[in-house]
Amino acid sequence: MFNALVVNKDSESGKTSAAVEKVSLDQLPGGEVTVAVEYSTVNYKDGLCIGPGGGLVRKYPHIPGIDFSGTVEASSDDRYKPGDKVVLTGWRVGEAHWGGYSQKANVKADWLVPLPKGLNSRQAMAVGTAGFTAMLSVMALEDHGLIPGHGPVLVTGAAGGVGSVATAILANLGYEVAGVTGRPEAAEYLTSLGATQIVARDEINETVKRPLEAESWAGCVDAVGGAMLARVLGQMKYGASVAAVGLAGGAGLPATVIPFLLRGVNLLGIDSVMQPYDNRLRAWQRVASDLPMDKLEAMIQPASLSDLPQLGEAILKGEIKGRVVVDVN
Ligand code: NDP
Repeated sequence: MFNALVVNKDSESGKTSAAVEKVSLDQLPGGEVTVAVEYSTVNYKDGLCIGPGGGLVRKYPHIPGIDFSGTVEASSDDRYKPGDKVVLTGWRVGEAHWGGYSQKANVKADWLVPLPKGLNSRQAMAVGTAGFTAMLSVMALEDHGLIPGHGPVLVTGAAGGVGSVATAILANLGYEVAGVTGRPEAAEYLTSLGATQIVARDEINETVKRPLEAESWAGCVDAVGGAMLARVLGQMKYGASVAAVGLAGGAGLPATVIPFLLRGVNLLGIDSVMQPYDNRLRAWQRVASDLPMDKLEAMIQPASLSDLPQLGEAILKGEIKGRVVVDVN
């Protein structure tokens, strides 16, 4: 028997509740690799899955946790053997499949990547899906021509998980970083990660009035979406790109197409869930080389399985700063 955070749904009221419970190995869903999980983390999607599911969870009881790191305990796939250190993000683990808020997980070998050289299991989950996705965003911006020295790169939702890691990576790569935050008290934190400009959320979160504004940003990692993304599109420099990662501020896009037509602005979609294996490896290697570990350490808030119900609510309210690292043992 081992511990896991189990979400149950009451069949009469339809309400869900999450608590740490004992689970046995034979209750785990099928998978080629059994992993002794060491760390997981809290992403926005986890907040949804710890609570009522947000349409992501179809079957209860459910074990959430969209990412984890740990050590292989048993494997029927040649690519992994007992003792190997591994990381998992994406593939709807923690949503459609039982996830990382558990001391053991059974998963497909295809879903795993070897723990990248230069990171330990705890650091890998300090990065987690949010940080991995921040790296994918920076890579996409670079692939579309972003280089340092052409003006500030905007990061929205900067004090959150994606935003914090994007800020630290971009600053380390020599970019000037402007962080948008709704939390004035986070300014010092963002400066410590390398931001040189803090933009108040209210300044940039209004509905588009003019489709084109002054050309301010050489690139953007956007974790917020909605009215903010629409507004940012009209503030991009000629030919610059926005990596659209998240919807913390809304799934709508009340924008005009004018920035695309008159300024050649690019809107790049970023998906971490179905990312092909080779690009996953490339992104993790870039994380290990481009994210300073002292900056990562400064983002960490440690937690245990029993803290998760409260942390799940907090991330949905935008109240988590940086990255939560859950020690499941
Ligand atoms: P966090 O909650 O850690 O960060 C989101 C940040 O957005 C908050 O910290 C806050 O930053 C800001 N924010 C919150 N609510 C609002 C609002 N109403 N209006 C404007 N800004 C707001 O979440 P993550 O960083 O983990 O994830 C960010 C987004 O990215 C989520 O929508 C998530 O689902 C998505 N995501 C997408 C992935 C993909 O594959 N495409 C992978 C991972 C995440 P501040 O306080 O600084 O203003």
